[in-house]
Amino acid sequence: MIGRGFLLGYCAMAKHTDSPETQEEQWRRATRLVRGGTRRSAHGETSEAMFLTSGYVYEDAGEAEARFKGDAPGFVYSRFGNPTVAMFERRLALLEGAEACKATSTGMAAVFASLMAQLRAGDHVVSSRALFGSCLYIVSDLLPRYGIEVTLVDGTDLDQWRAAFRPDTRCVFLESPSNPGLEIIDLEAVAAMAHDVGARLVVDNVFATPLLQPAMQLGADIVVYSATKHIDGQGRCLGGAILSSQAFVDDELLPFLRHTGPSLSPFNAWVLLKGLETLELRVERMCANALDVASFLEGRNEIERVLYPGLPSHPQHALAERQMSAGGTVVSFDIAGGKEAAFSFLNRLRLIDISNNLGDSKSLITHPATTTHQRLQPEERAALRLGDGLVRLSVGLEDVEDVKSDISQAFSGAND
Ligand SMILES: *Cc1c(COP(=O)(O)O)cnc(C)c1O
Repeated sequence: MIGRGFLLGYCAMAKHTDSPETQEEQWRRATRLVRGGTRRSAHGETSEAMFLTSGYVYEDAGEAEARFKGDAPGFVYSRFGNPTVAMFERRLALLEGAEACKATSTGMAAVFASLMAQLRAGDHVVSSRALFGSCLYIVSDLLPRYGIEVTLVDGTDLDQWRAAFRPDTRCVFLESPSNPGLEIIDLEAVAAMAHDVGARLVVDNVFATPLLQPAMQLGADIVVYSATKHIDGQGRCLGGAILSSQAFVDDELLPFLRHTGPSLSPFNAWVLLKGLETLELRVERMCANALDVASFLEGRNEIERVLYPGLPSHPQHALAERQMSAGGTVVSFDIAGGKEAAFSFLNRLRLIDISNNLGDSKSLITHPATTTHQRLQPEERAALRLGDGLVRLSVGLEDVEDVKSDISQAFSGAND
């Protein structure tokens, strides 16, 4: 009995005017974040229920047959779908304004599945070069192993994009802002070029979060997230998500996910649902703190260059202002003196933690050249202007004065 209302909420074939789906679509963003996708069981619990179950039972054998055939609503196995995971998927889809969402175990599983579900040998892919290390590994090392040709471009140069497209280009992949160089790519322009040759645009929107950059409205066909970052945002669990049209999910993504199994744990889905409830409050405060820290860093002579899309000094500030509602939560900067100076700065910090995660409520700092981008050849790092003095700071929710004091004392070396 418990499952009935719930299952019908998610699996009913026809959409009625008074259905939960139609109601939710009337809600504004903050309401969607707190309540979107919630389907209560017969117990009427306030908080979303955590359905820690791998499988489901059926009234009779005929019902099992009907559910497997897709003729009857209901879950069949948690590798395919789970009520708590479905609540998370629905909430994120409402936030993004996407028809459909599928959750994955990690952000990398989302990136990999979004590409592998649609590509085959002989296809051509265009991708920006400025990518998170693992994303770059997928496009530049893995895809070519399966006969998929990849052209890498400088994402900020529209002429390079234009030159890279071919009639057999199937798919475009990019990150904007990029990790860790915070390059901004003109999503509308690249989407238009992709659509001209019938290719799909896949955007890794992690740094912008679903709140700061409406990637789908700007032309993305598929948007991927590492939910590990801002969506959890409290350092607790891994997760990922793929958002797209219902047709892409039904025809291409779902068969790939069902049979390869990068499923999100219902426990993690529950944590991520709770993360979404406070996402807007956290991201707003973190952006304000990041802008404050970035402005403060610009005035310091220990620093050669500050990169923050929200600062007028950012090379693509105007584009960032056009397609993002704030500069984001990450600030990257070059410390004069290269690796030695960067390490000594990191080692003197007392509040900000050395950690390669980001989007967390705790301020975290990393040295990309020796961690997340260690695998790159020196020429590749040079092409990305990812120098030995570059550090990436994810600004958290502490009092921003304490974050700035920590940076000051680390530069002054007062506590050596
Ligand atoms: C962290 C990150 C990922 C990978 O996410 P995981 O959840 O760690 O697998 C993908 N893309 C970007 C831009 C990231 O920052």
